[in-house]
Amino acid sequence: MKSRGIYIHIPFCKKRCDYCDFTSFKYDEVEVDKYIDLLINEIKLYSGELLKSNITSIYIGGGTPSVLNCKQIDRLFGELNAYYDKGIEVTFEVNPESIDKEKLDCLKEAGVNRISIGVQSLDDTELKFLGRIHSQSVAIDAIKTVSEMGFNFSTDFIYGFDKNRDITLELDKLLKYKPNHISLYPLEVYQDSKISTKINEIDDEYAFYEYKVISKYLKDKGYEHYEVSNFAIKGFESKHNSNYWRGMEYFGFGISSHGYLNSVRYENTPNKNNYGKMIEGSEKPIVNESFINTEEKKLEYIMLGLRLSSGISLIDYEKRFGEKFDKLDDKAVSKHIESGLLLLDNGYLRLSEEGNYQMNNILVDLL
Ligand code: SF4
Repeated sequence: MKSRGIYIHIPFCKKRCDYCDFTSFKYDEVEVDKYIDLLINEIKLYSGELLKSNITSIYIGGGTPSVLNCKQIDRLFGELNAYYDKGIEVTFEVNPESIDKEKLDCLKEAGVNRISIGVQSLDDTELKFLGRIHSQSVAIDAIKTVSEMGFNFSTDFIYGFDKNRDITLELDKLLKYKPNHISLYPLEVYQDSKISTKINEIDDEYAFYEYKVISKYLKDKGYEHYEVSNFAIKGFESKHNSNYWRGMEYFGFGISSHGYLNSVRYENTPNKNNYGKMIEGSEKPIVNESFINTEEKKLEYIMLGLRLSSGISLIDYEKRFGEKFDKLDDKAVSKHIESGLLLLDNGYLRLSEEGNYQMNNILVDLL
């Protein structure tokens, strides 16, 4: 049996954040009800493949999955239950304003054991700038409730957009509640987003400075910087994402979801009407798919492996692909090793802290 993950996209939000570039529609209970029906039918279309898989993790992302009510959560997990064993990592993304104890009870009951909270900031001025609908106090209440209910939880933070922000003060507030995991995202300013009317472009140098400040702060507090954008207390790394970075296959269900099955990467339609029509016609809602050949797998292995602090194992590379990793002789690559952006030790090639931030430039030379 092949080990695989499951990703499910819930593309509904109460209000669009000013920086958002994701596929997301305005929340409407009836629309969400219909969407859950469609999702259940999409999952059924894959039941043969699901039954042949050893499901190792589930991730429900968005959008805002926490807009689902308890009945909708029950219906979704009622369908999924047949395909996985209890005890695997089941993550559910929530936004602070749309959870409370009752909903968290429903999630627990449904088998969710990991909560990822979209905090983004613990300062009301920054939250307003980002166009989030929650305030600092709503975020803290949500973190507190999740923590008190004994969930393994992660929090998302956005950085790199305000030189006057006291990011360590915000992290101090957050760490009182001992999240096991923290994910960082640099703010990106998309041309047609609302935030582009408030900020023209990101000052990369400042964003790098803030990234280093946060990294050092979290490392000093005992978090491992186990992936370019992710920090965790040892043993609490995201299993779902780690499997993804190691090139494991996964099902992708829902509007605009991506999946990777039988060496084929596929993408579902981002169009709500087409998604509905295709599923009602018992057709998988795929609009793009591409077979990943061995050469492409090698590139993905390098690209994804370098995101992890452990880096790429040169021995594992040789075992997988039946040939030596030959990029080290390349002039451009040795230049990065000499400058300390790439580190080679104990048979692993990995990025240094500085290299993490310049990953895209380094990858150009490695691929
Ligand atoms: S919660 Fe996420 S998906 Fe929804 S509008 Fe905000 S950034 Fe976009």
